Amino acid sequence: MAKNLMEIEETNRLSQEEEEEDDDEDFREAWTEDENEEDGGENDDDLEFLCLFCDSKYSSCDALFDHCRLTHFFDFNGIRKELGLDFYGSFKLVNYVRSQVADNRCWSCGVHCQSKQDLQNHLHQSFDTKDVKLLLDNDKYLNPLMQEDSLLYSFGGDEEDEDECNTSFDKEEIVKDFGNVCIDEDDTGEDIELNAETYNKDRKTEVSNGHLSLACSSNGITDNGLDYGRSVRSLESHPKDKQSRVYIADVVGKDIKKVNDGYFGSYSSFGIHRDMISDKIRTDAYRQALLKNPSLLNGAVVMDVGCGTGILSLFAAQAGASRVISIEASEKMAAVATQIAKDNGLWQSKTDGESDKNCTGVIEVVHTMVENLDKSIQIQPYSVDILVSEWMGYCLLYESMLSSVLYARDRWLKPGGAMLPDTATIFVAGFGKGGTSLPFWENVYGFNMSSIGKEVVEDAAKFPVIDIINHHDLVTNAAVLQSFDLATMKPDEVDFTATAELEAKFDNMDHKATSCFGVVLWFDTGFTSRFCKETPTILSTSPYTPKTHWSQTILTFREAVSVASSKFAAEESADVGMDACPASKILLRISIARATQHRCIDISLETAGVSPNGRKRCWPAQIFNLT
Ligand code: SAH
Repeated sequence: MAKNLMEIEETNRLSQEEEEEDDDEDFREAWTEDENEEDGGENDDDLEFLCLFCDSKYSSCDALFDHCRLTHFFDFNGIRKELGLDFYGSFKLVNYVRSQVADNRCWSCGVHCQSKQDLQNHLHQSFDTKDVKLLLDNDKYLNPLMQEDSLLYSFGGDEEDEDECNTSFDKEEIVKDFGNVCIDEDDTGEDIELNAETYNKDRKTEVSNGHLSLACSSNGITDNGLDYGRSVRSLESHPKDKQSRVYIADVVGKDIKKVNDGYFGSYSSFGIHRDMISDKIRTDAYRQALLKNPSLLNGAVVMDVGCGTGILSLFAAQAGASRVISIEASEKMAAVATQIAKDNGLWQSKTDGESDKNCTGVIEVVHTMVENLDKSIQIQPYSVDILVSEWMGYCLLYESMLSSVLYARDRWLKPGGAMLPDTATIFVAGFGKGGTSLPFWENVYGFNMSSIGKEVVEDAAKFPVIDIINHHDLVTNAAVLQSFDLATMKPDEVDFTATAELEAKFDNMDHKATSCFGVVLWFDTGFTSRFCKETPTILSTSPYTPKTHWSQTILTFREAVSVASSKFAAEESADVGMDACPASKILLRISIARATQHRCIDISLETAGVSPNGRKRCWPAQIFNLT
């Protein structure tokens, strides 16, 4: 199960040596110190509404909006009215403005300022809010930028001001505004559940059926008074909200079919199958697992989820499986897989006499999404010995196909049956300048075009980039971010929040400082000895092993973090992560969760640097959408 931060910390505390405990302490503090400071500070419990533009806090959203209007020329209620924003739009407006401010950018005209103070000085009456309205069409602003943002849940219906407010945050309003969002008193646990229990227990969104919300974790990073990291605030302090459990049942339901049609359509082209099959690292790993583990395969009933051309089913038949059920949602590929099984004498045909002793005739291809298999063919529950699937997407989880595989596992795999692969692990490491396009632009036929390089790197901080990173360009060790046991994991664990600690790599650095431009993610899947007793295999997409069609997933920091060994003589007064005070450790908290857009994923990245003398600095969270 994906552990939340507190569980990880507890595990660390119990299992590590005393010396390491000190490190853990540091690690914990990096994420919690600001919270503690808050506890120890003056009692500002009542001041829960943080200004969108400065550090002022107010006890009601009305007071806050008055302040925003009078001090920062931002008239929330006026803009809402002018643009006719519903609850949903207003929610996005708050997040949009906060995200602009976090970037020192004017929400109204887009001007980029040097500092928060410059931005405050720059703010002005809005000229034309139509452009803002267009921006608010973007669903990314449904992801709260700030943790515990009371404003998001109160702008329309502050408890005290409820009567005065004609747009309160109530069931009718949300049902109307969200269209398909349903608010249900029943605890079905089926859909996204924004309730106190969920957030306080797991600190991650309960997500199913491909719907998403960004996973969140138990502690926040605080930067300049803004508390980042948790995507949705706990509702515990709002009894009314607590009663009204909000299930976002089908916000994007109607789009799912469209996305699926496009998705399976994309698998109808042969090019993509050729690319996959010619990825030798990938195909050989499956081939080895299937052909070199005879005690597992001999006489086994195999289910191949998403058979494509049927290549894995063919291996399974070749290895001596007694029955191979090959499921494929793309109509074209299901037909192709059938033809290929026939052409190779491996198609199951009880009537047309195609089977002979060279033709094992065990493969049956079913054209359906595995989720609808029952409608096409009756397979006895728990009757399958081996479930094989090549479900991995970019950054492991893109495509959301794992959910389909887990669905099949829970319906048809025998207790103790084999999953191929049966483990998946996501790794993370920091990369240096060589992992960016800066070196390319620095010398173009002898000309300096580094201004382009800088812009490219700035842009890269907004989107995940799928590309190959050379391991020589890594400037930190690699750490495990998250491990999945595919035989036992629960379906909702595909969304997770995990932490990792990176240390500067010293082998070729002579304790000098170097810049870490971001982090790279990759994954391994294991065909472990649990099921593959004769020949366990690992399929790795690491920068240290030959490249695969998955490449790696690159998340670029907004600003590079200088890193060096703990022996570096750091300047006390300099900011951690600057060249004068490089970080000796980088602490990461990363959430990966299915995005609102079906089959896409959102990745949130929180970064903190720790200097050799233990000083810490946190950077604002970054959200990357892999679409
Ligand atoms: N097994 C093949 C193809 C892997 S690509 C190989 O290894 O080469 C994944 C395939 O799974 C695609 O052909 C896609 O259309 C199919 N697929 C994805 N989700 C599915 C689902 N829910 N049900 C059935 N097929 C699915």
